[in-house]
Amino acid sequence: METSILIIYTGGTIGMVNDPETGVLCPFNFNQIASEVPELREFGFTIDNIALPEIIDSSDLRPSLWTDLCRLLVDNYDRYHGFVILHGTDTMAYSASALSFMLERLGKPVIFTGSQLPIGKIRTDGKENLIAAIEIAAARQDGIPLVPEVSILFGDRLFRGNRTTKINAESFDAFQSFNHPPLAEIGIHVHYNRDAILPVPSSPLPPFAFTRLDASVAILKIFPGIPAGVIDAVTRVPGLRGLILETYGSGNAPTRPEFLDKIRRALDAGITIYNVTQCAGGSVEMGKYETSRELLRAGVVSGRDITTEAAICKMMRVLGEYSDPDDIRRQLDANLRGEVSLNK
Ligand code: ASP
Repeated sequence: METSILIIYTGGTIGMVNDPETGVLCPFNFNQIASEVPELREFGFTIDNIALPEIIDSSDLRPSLWTDLCRLLVDNYDRYHGFVILHGTDTMAYSASALSFMLERLGKPVIFTGSQLPIGKIRTDGKENLIAAIEIAAARQDGIPLVPEVSILFGDRLFRGNRTTKINAESFDAFQSFNHPPLAEIGIHVHYNRDAILPVPSSPLPPFAFTRLDASVAILKIFPGIPAGVIDAVTRVPGLRGLILETYGSGNAPTRPEFLDKIRRALDAGITIYNVTQCAGGSVEMGKYETSRELLRAGVVSGRDITTEAAICKMMRVLGEYSDPDDIRRQLDANLRGEVSLNK
């Protein structure tokens, strides 16, 4: 089969051009991408594109978009060698994380990219990002895709999607993956870091999209002096099933009974708590300090070196599939899609 890539446009800065009449930035007609990026013709293979019915600034993202994307990917899976999803940068790390958990048995590249400057601007970073993403989405050796996983391409690096965080609101190097090496580095040549890339799944079955996410979740970032009422307000949300607790350093939290009692009460109420560090790099190590030992004893699950973006999406996915608290804890504790390092 001749190489073919599908670009899926969801919105974000990359798709903006200046309205010729008003000069205001507005989404461009994605069907005309070839006139906006004529370089695409030089690939010499099929590049199709689809725009989602509703083009959004990614700050308006809702989980239903992930479901739509998964369905599109599964429905078109056999027809394309790889997929490039154009997405706003603000929540790209959430979407890439979510899709990594929702897509079972993915064996082809799904690459998210976007840009800091609109594609219609002369200095745009969008063209290079798009072109590099297409090149990597099409890259195969002996018929096997080089990067058969959900990733984010930005600037001169390709990262595992569920390891990535947006770290800069202006720089062309807007993303970073602190706890996992880049999957590829883009210079004159593209250097693939084979050891860092997930293998193609062994199952011969086609991929499957798990779309029953449960968004009854919250993130609580602790800070010195956090009012008891804030902890109560979050942990007493009716129907809450999962809480990402953003702790200090290697997973440390206050040892005062006022704090710990509220955490224990939430656990007793059936809420699963996942301990994620506020630090950009490094890992939670519960039990290392007295300040995390009590969380461990109470039954909080270690998020190890997971990002907050991946943690919240993993929680939604796991809660969507399991109801037994032990199953939920076991799944959170496991490495499902390369999102955590188990030796941490
Ligand atoms: N607010 C925009 C978005 O996330 C920013 C961007 O695309 O870079 O959709």
